[in-house]
Amino acid sequence: MNVSQIQQLCAAAGWYSGAIDGDAGPQTLQAVAQAELHHRASFVGDPSGWPQSRRLIAAGQVGLAQQGFEPGSVDGYAGQNTAEALTAWHDAALGRVAAVGRKPLDAPRSHPEQARYPRQADMQAFYGPAGGPQCTAGKVDLPFPMLIAWNKSQSVTRFSCHEKLARPLSDIFRHALAHYGQADIERLDLNLFGGCFNYRKMRGGASLSVHAYGAAVDLNPERNQLRWGADRAQFAGPDYVPFWNIVMAHGGTPAGYAWGKDWMHFQFARL
Ligand SMILES: [Zn+2]
Repeated sequence: MNVSQIQQLCAAAGWYSGAIDGDAGPQTLQAVAQAELHHRASFVGDPSGWPQSRRLIAAGQVGLAQQGFEPGSVDGYAGQNTAEALTAWHDAALGRVAAVGRKPLDAPRSHPEQARYPRQADMQAFYGPAGGPQCTAGKVDLPFPMLIAWNKSQSVTRFSCHEKLARPLSDIFRHALAHYGQADIERLDLNLFGGCFNYRKMRGGASLSVHAYGAAVDLNPERNQLRWGADRAQFAGPDYVPFWNIVMAHGGTPAGYAWGKDWMHFQFARL
């Protein structure tokens, strides 16, 4: 997110009336202060102690949320949720929809174990209501620390998921470590956690995301972006075939194999 975009977002929210010049001058900083003053409750943490670059991004995130786009947490880090919200906002301004094609591949690679989990259309019957307490009741204890993809100075050794998925997800990461070893896990960026539970709509769609059930995991979003195909995505490379086989053998469906995009993402639901 750049300063011009932040200025536009602040202008749309009514906090900024200066030029859209990409220069974070006093008027822009005043707009940032307005966002913090009027929307303090939506911030994760106390922005008064944050560096200016982070406060600017957080103000942009509040602006996105104000206009109905979903930037994820207002934390001042431009992760994939914020990037996606920015894309949707930008496209809406141009009068088009940031649609994400999820057309199933003709001959997707699959595994019989995936049949243990529902089709996307039947998720509520299997998982219960999206966003319900069971969607975060599962705890995945990681066999190696994972870095938070949008803030790599932070790491996690456990994350929350749907209570039905703690077991398969723990197994996936345990098997991955056994197969690759710690050095290759890091070299291949399989230790960059991009999120699991997240109550939001599907990107570029109207229905709820599989993440809203705590039934999907993202890894290294930066190099496996939502709309990228196998020609660009890091995780489409041959080094990752064993990982995806492990995911599928535990019932997971890699997006890259099912619809050929969003290689960061695997889910416990079939198309
Ligand atoms: Zn995802």
